[in-house]
This record gives sequence, C-alpha cells and structure tokens, in this order.
Amino acid sequence: MNWNRRVQVLVGAAALAAAASLPVAAQAPTPAAPGIPVNPSLVGDTSNVAKEAQGWLADLIRINTTNPPGNEQVAAKYIAGILEKEGITAEILELTPGRSAVVARLRSAAVANPAKALLLVAHMDVVAVDKSKWTVDPFGGVIKDGYLYGRGAIDDKGMLAANLAAFVALKRANLRLNRDVIFLATADEENGGDANIKVLIGKYWDKFAAGFSINEGGNVFVVRGKVQYVGVQASEKVSGNIDVIARGRSGHASQPTKDNAIVHLAAAVGKIGAYTAPVHLTAIVRRYFEGLAPLEDDEIGKWMRSLDTSDRGEHAQRVLSNGSPLWNAMLRDTIAPTILTAGVANNVIPGEAHANLNVRLLPGDTIEAVVRDLTKLVDDPLVKLEVKPNGGLAAPPSSLESDFYAVISKVAAQEFPGAAVLPFQSTWATDSAQLRLHNVQAYGLVPFPLTEEDLKRMHGEDERIPLAAFNKGVDVLARIVAEFAVTR
Ligand SMILES: [Zn+2]
Repeated sequence: MNWNRRVQVLVGAAALAAAASLPVAAQAPTPAAPGIPVNPSLVGDTSNVAKEAQGWLADLIRINTTNPPGNEQVAAKYIAGILEKEGITAEILELTPGRSAVVARLRSAAVANPAKALLLVAHMDVVAVDKSKWTVDPFGGVIKDGYLYGRGAIDDKGMLAANLAAFVALKRANLRLNRDVIFLATADEENGGDANIKVLIGKYWDKFAAGFSINEGGNVFVVRGKVQYVGVQASEKVSGNIDVIARGRSGHASQPTKDNAIVHLAAAVGKIGAYTAPVHLTAIVRRYFEGLAPLEDDEIGKWMRSLDTSDRGEHAQRVLSNGSPLWNAMLRDTIAPTILTAGVANNVIPGEAHANLNVRLLPGDTIEAVVRDLTKLVDDPLVKLEVKPNGGLAAPPSSLESDFYAVISKVAAQEFPGAAVLPFQSTWATDSAQLRLHNVQAYGLVPFPLTEEDLKRMHGEDERIPLAAFNKGVDVLARIVAEFAVTR
C-alpha cells in the first residue's frame, strides 16, 4: 500500500468527510506534526528486531576488537553467523591475519547495478580503554539503569548492530527492492593501518560497490531533553600530521648554549599554539549555521546569521569559535600539538627535539600550505616543519541534492518532529571519505538520539548507549533503508 499517496488524498476536507464513514482501522493515522504525516514503516514494527539487536550489540562488545591489534575476524564471524541464520549469505573478506571485513547483499535483480546500490557501513574495531577509569567492565556488555555499557556501545558497534537490525528487518519483511542493499562491516577504522577501508576497497571493491552509503559521522543531537537537530554528515575534515624538528648543538648540560633544541622547539610550539588559522566557510558549514541559528538563543543565533557579513563577520567568527570547540573546528583548519619527543639523560643536551602536530584540514585546504604558514610564523632557522606520510585525502562532499539525502532528511524530520535536519561537516574523519573518492554519495548518521554527555564518552570512559535511544535508532535506520530501497 502506498501510505504517502493515501495520506495526501485524505488531507482535503471533502476527503476527510469521506474518511469519517470508513472503519477506524482504514482511516489515515493522525499527523505527528502539522504537514508531516505519520508514515508507517514499510518493514513494520521494529521493536522486536531492536530487542534482538541489543543482544547482538552486547555480544559484539564482549568480542574485544581493540585496535591495535583489532582481531576483527572474530566479530566478522559472529556477524556472518547471525546473517546465515536469517538465510542471508555472508562473505568474510580477509585482510591481514586475524583481520577481516564481512559483506552481505539483499538483491533487487539478477544482475546488480552498483550505481544504484545502497551500502550500510560500520566498523568493528574500537579504541583502547583505560580500564582503571571505568566503573564497569568495558568488554562486559553490562546493562545498568537503562543503558548498555561498553567500549564501542556507540562508536561504532551501536551503529553496526543497528545496520544489522535494519538489514535483517528488510530481509524478514520480504519486500520487493528497487536497488541492492549491501551490509558491510569494516576493520581498522580507528587506526587506519594495513587492514583499513582503503585496503579493503583495493582488494574487494566489486563485492560492495555502491552509489550510496550510510555510515557513522553525523548525529542526532539531544539538547535540554529534546532532539535539537539531526546532523547528516556530507563532508569531513582531513587529518594529517606535521613533524616539527628543532636541531641544535648537543653537549654537556653543565655548559648550555643558546642553540638548545628543546628551547627552540618549545618556542616554536608556543607560537603554533597561539596561532589561529583563518576562517574559511564551506557551503555545508554555511548551511549548517543558517539552519541552527533559529534553534539557538537570540544572541548566538544573531552571530550565526552574521558569520558571512563584511562588517560583523569577524566578530561573529570569534564569538562562535570561543563558544564551542566544535564550531571553531568547523570554521577553520586546526593544529593540535600531540606528542613531544626529546632528550636521553638528565645531564645531556639533546641535538634534536620533535613535536607532532595533528592537523585537521577543511576540505580543499592543503597541509603543504599549513607548513608554509607555520614555517613563516615560527621564523627560526633551527626549526624545520615536515609533512608526515599517510595523511588523509580530501574527498569531494556528498551532494545535498541526491535522492538519498532527501530520503534521510524526510525520515529524520518525521521521526524527530520539531527538530531541524542539517547538513554536517564532521571535524573527525570516517571511512566515508574513501567511499566518496569512489563516487559514492556517502552520508553519516548515527541514528541514536544522544546527549552531549553521552557523546563525550566515545573514546572515553564508561561509553554507553541508552537502550531507548538504540531502539529508536534501529527504527529510524530501518525506515531510511526501506524508504529508499523498497519498491512501492
Ligand atoms: Zn567510529
């Protein structure tokens, strides 16, 4: 049944009068918000599959995939087992010893059309934990006060389990698909080593080639108890590293000279720390602030609207940058010193000292330009800056005009009435950059409504997901997938 057309037909007053004579069950459902009809999910009620998926998530948390070393193969086999039970063929894609991805496909036709296919992506590896700071076992899959605790509960096993639930729900509903839907669990996202998505694409692209994808990267942001906005990631910043090297005379610490490498390095790092890169508004960030302005208080909203003005723009940029590290990082390249290395003994002046700068570039900016600017700023012949290898590659942003972006926006607006749906440029990197480089319209949306307080725990202590938010996310994701891939 086409619920969309049905609801539209019933909107007119005459139709409403006619509907009054229909049996209650046949009448259109009550609109959730003015103009937004409730659209029953094509895959039906997802509460049962969400409950099962809570169990999968707890099990996945118990499989320790801390990267390094990752050991994602164990998780891949676990996922393959769930898929096989549903009658879905799953294929383990070997990467390096002990590390694998897993892929499965629901077909729409005998011959696949990769340009139309939809890819559900999540990574299986997690970042390390400092166990002493956790109040529960980070690999226990513990449920407490309505939360499921554990490393990866949100990032990214939560999304992994939700993708799996949406995929399984689609299979169980046995609907006709207008495009292939592909489930992919990746390895080595957090460390970007020799089992990462770049390697996976190089080896196995044909197994999961798609025109559209949904992955982590964006979020459903809960502020003061309600969803303020849904940020759909369509672009991301690019990570790279710069080695700052100071070279001086090494020697006995009892007779110091002015060319001490540590002193020169420290001065250089001090200057770099005080430096702020210029603002550069990308199209997505401009739309983000335009959309957020009416949701913030008047004062902040005013500055968001002034960002691009010639008279108040600079002040607006300062106010917003000072107001939020996220907003600051959305507006400009950022440079964070992260590692200092120097010295071998208390009484020896080292000849060399290093600092690592982690740089996050706006799409379009280059790390070479940052090196040039910082070299000028440091202005010290004893200090050199060099780009380290293996930096990220800038990918073109995903389109905000694609059919899939429209579906994500529509479903998000229905599921979170009153919230804005905004394009989002993440300050962090995801696997989607590599997909975008392969012409995939890749979007990021972790579908769980989460507070700042819960989001902060990712990569931190006591990572957890509210079970209610998980269930909601499964429903959101299943609706997005069905809305895009099911033939009506
Ligand atoms: Zn992640």
